[in-house]
Amino acid sequence: MPQQPVLIVGAGISGLSIAYELQQRQIPYQVMEASDHAGGVLKSLHVDGFELDAGPNSLAASPEMLTYLQQLGLGDKILVASASSKNRFLVRNNALHAVSPHPFKIIGSKYLSRASKWKLFTERFRKSVPPAGEESVSSFVTRRFNQEIAEYVFDPVLSGIYAGNPDKLSIAEILPMLPRWEKEYGSITKGLMKEKGTMGSRKIISLKGGNAQLGKALLDKLQTPVKFNCAVNTIQSTASGYEVGYIENGNLSLQEFSRIILTTPAYSTANMIEPLDLSLAGLLQALEYPEMGVFHLGYDAAAIGNPVDGFGFLVPNAEKLHFLGVICNAAIFPEKAPEGKVLFTVFTGGARLQHLLKEGDHAVLRQQILSELSQLLHISAAPVMQHFAVVKNAIPQLNVGFAQVRSAVEKFEHTWPGIHIAGNYVKGVAVPALIQYASQLAEKMAKN
Ligand SMILES: Cc1cc2nc3c(=O)[nH]c(=O)nc-3n(C[C@H](O)[C@H](O)[C@H](O)COP(=O)(O)OP(=O)(O)OC[C@H]3O[C@@H](n4cnc5c(N)ncnc54)[C@H](O)[C@@H]3O)c2cc1C
Repeated sequence: MPQQPVLIVGAGISGLSIAYELQQRQIPYQVMEASDHAGGVLKSLHVDGFELDAGPNSLAASPEMLTYLQQLGLGDKILVASASSKNRFLVRNNALHAVSPHPFKIIGSKYLSRASKWKLFTERFRKSVPPAGEESVSSFVTRRFNQEIAEYVFDPVLSGIYAGNPDKLSIAEILPMLPRWEKEYGSITKGLMKEKGTMGSRKIISLKGGNAQLGKALLDKLQTPVKFNCAVNTIQSTASGYEVGYIENGNLSLQEFSRIILTTPAYSTANMIEPLDLSLAGLLQALEYPEMGVFHLGYDAAAIGNPVDGFGFLVPNAEKLHFLGVICNAAIFPEKAPEGKVLFTVFTGGARLQHLLKEGDHAVLRQQILSELSQLLHISAAPVMQHFAVVKNAIPQLNVGFAQVRSAVEKFEHTWPGIHIAGNYVKGVAVPALIQYASQLAEKMAKN
């Protein structure tokens, strides 16, 4: 008897990469996707000769990830970031400051006070008792270092990765090695020194033609066509497995599956599993997914009086600007802008600046960003290209309390064998982490 296909719900990078890995192991699958396109949040576009990404702009690729991209036929599209991408900056008092983990550079830096530098270098000698239960990033960092380090080091970095609010983000979820180092070595700086060699080397890359190429390449590899415009809305248990209810091109259909992988965002997964687990559905529904604004700006290179030779710069919330950070795309991937031009991707919104997108006028917000950027980079002319996109429900926030979600997901998978809850809120937000998980899951399914 032919094997029943595994149902994969969602054709973002999670769903597509899981389908590809199952195919590699000759496990039949069926992908259902609510929208009319694959790739989920990966969206690339071309405007006036500039190459824009409204989703991920760059990927931190391990050697395995580079091999994977080659297998997908993307080898000739890989752009490796220039050496200067190691240079990172942050804003303090309306100026850009180079940020470096090197102790001598930290001592000489102007973005931290003397008191904070002292706190950094003496952290290894201080004892501090962690509270019982989950702790926020801000609380952890303030306890181990001080408030300025929380505001000027951790806040901008977590805005850059999660568009998150460190007062709410859970340290155990976001930076799990930090509480572990505290426990094992009694110090974060000691843990960092001991383990920095074990973290593996990664290259910052992007794809020529835009990062949506990754979704397209995966889709092209799939031998079973993805069912587009097909939204799953319920999963009920039956004697032999699960009955899945989905709306395909406006019509409700039912189909039985014994194995289902849910790669959809938490709020969408919540609706599907409600008949099976009301309590987990409630937890998933409550996860915060802030909107983000992605503002692309192209300029003549000659108009930038204070060019940034590096990956970009981050804005601590305490600086009260209208954006979270900027990627200097053309400085690290010159192919992304026409000759003689520069390209910036400015991020706004997220957990900290949600009100600017939800309540404010977007035209006014754009003007404020343009003016703040002009001051920082001494820009002498108007942009030659502008593009503004709002990404709704952009990035899930793993806030304090997420431990409860994680254990409810585990309990659910145990109670309802054959259903796997995947997707970026449980398996990691970064694209390479999702691809790595796809291979682990497929391997596990091949053995069962
Ligand atoms: C602005 C932005 C910048 C980012 N930058 C980076 C970066 O630089 N580097 C990096 O590594 N990562 C980055 N990320 C994170 C990364 O892009 C995401 O975590 C990842 O792409 C999520 O993939 P996914 O497949 O898990 O989810 P999604 O992309 O959300 O895909 C889920 C899919 O499920 C579908 N779906 C929803 N409901 C249903 C339903 N009921 N039935 C069927 N289908 C359904 C959706 O239509 C969607 O296609 C960024 C994300 C954003 C938003």
